[in-house]
Amino acid sequence: MHVASPLWNGLTEPARSVALEVLYHGPLSRAELARRLSLSAGSLTRLSKPLLDIGVLSEVGIQPENRIGRPAVLLDVVPTSRFFLGIKLTGDEAHAVLTTLRAEVIASERAPLDRREPAEVVATMSGLIGKLGDRVDGISALGVSLGGSSTDNLTVARAPYLDWTDVPLATMLTEATGLPVVVENDVIAVTEAEHWFGAGRQYERFAVITVGMGVGYGLVVHDKLVASPDAGIGLIGHFPLDSAGPLCPMGHHGCSYSMLSIPGIRSSISVALGRDVTYDECLDLAATGHPAARRIVDDGGRALGRLIALVANLTMPNKVILAGDGVRLAHVGYDAMIERLHEDRDPRASRVNLDIQAFDFFEWARGAAVIAIQNYVLGNLHP
Ligand SMILES: [Zn+2]
Repeated sequence: MHVASPLWNGLTEPARSVALEVLYHGPLSRAELARRLSLSAGSLTRLSKPLLDIGVLSEVGIQPENRIGRPAVLLDVVPTSRFFLGIKLTGDEAHAVLTTLRAEVIASERAPLDRREPAEVVATMSGLIGKLGDRVDGISALGVSLGGSSTDNLTVARAPYLDWTDVPLATMLTEATGLPVVVENDVIAVTEAEHWFGAGRQYERFAVITVGMGVGYGLVVHDKLVASPDAGIGLIGHFPLDSAGPLCPMGHHGCSYSMLSIPGIRSSISVALGRDVTYDECLDLAATGHPAARRIVDDGGRALGRLIALVANLTMPNKVILAGDGVRLAHVGYDAMIERLHEDRDPRASRVNLDIQAFDFFEWARGAAVIAIQNYVLGNLHP
């Protein structure tokens, strides 16, 4: 795989902050950029000139009117100046995307994981990397996200869906492809994608709740992801939500896993019906009024409303984003969810600004690409 030249690597910190501001908020006029960074017009010109010379920034057009009535030249990054790959691993599939510097998806591919041994998974990922990488002239970095934890962005400390412990995934992938590689927990990756390039972009404080094979949570405060070595453990995976709820495999009554997760909902409805049902079938049955399925999905909706209220009450976010492959629970159980959300909030509290995202595994792969983009533009990658 051809590694693109490290365009952003040699930037001084002041020049990098100019480039980052344009990446987040561009296109911007020089005057607006100087105002945002509290720089004089002269300092900004001195810092932006070399960025224009080496192609990190470009002049993209004219803003017709500004406050003093003169047209202003707009500066922007060149999104297609650098390309990135993102791969999201589940227990049985790899989903990969090729993106620009602004995380716009250009192409996507997926492949089944027939075997979970790390070497086999790396071989499958290398195939996807080759297919997508061939479409452009050089890749700057690869991000990989998965359900699990990595404390150093290189080694997978634990990934239960793949039965992995202490797998040096980044090193293995770099050896196979030559690319700089970063590894991250999938909920953190999705939260960072919302933070830099998604629904959380205009908010300095927001939360993400994910519902799928498990239940996850990400938080951005003061425009920064709240990071901790504990973040990848899944701290709200078994959070108590309904003491009268069904048992989870760990013996909790009505924890977030048993009430909200795909396996939890499937298990409750399969027991009620006396046969195995898929997740979609569970929600279809509830939507068409099957009494047992309706009751279980409404219980799930109420538990989700309680969790959203907890997050809102404790962290006071400007927005709560619901995401994940089990997010259809929020649609089919919507009325119950909203009812409980209101019950658990002070009537004087502001309405929770809720955003239910359409689910797509490639959106999660895009999150992995965003981790690669962040590490690249922040100068954390040293090929
Ligand atoms: Zn539990």
